[in-house]
Amino acid sequence: MTWRTLLVTLPEPGTVVDVDGQLFSCIKIDELRKAGGAKVPVAVWRSKCAECGAEFFTRTATSSNGPSRRCRRHRHGGAHVASGPSRPVNVRLISPANPNRQLEKIQ
Ligand SMILES: [Zn+2]
Repeated sequence: MTWRTLLVTLPEPGTVVDVDGQLFSCIKIDELRKAGGAKVPVAVWRSKCAECGAEFFTRTATSSNGPSRRCRRHRHGGAHVASGPSRPVNVRLISPANPNRQLEKIQ
């Protein structure tokens, strides 16, 4: 299971996803204003940095390949958290049973 196949639409707040043992809790749905004024709904996630364990927040849009795994201090542009030699990242849903229930009010 990848992030993209698990979260086809935005999750509901309260959704918890396990990314290779790192938990991400969706705390709310927010809007990101793009250059040009278009608004894009994004999920805001709370997690703990894969490097230092500090709590941090990150956002994903529906087209995302997955959330950032590290806090602002430890985020290196484009560097992935080591997960062994070419091992695919294992994404698993903790709760609820169906994260892709439509969020009518934002779509
Ligand atoms: Zn960190």
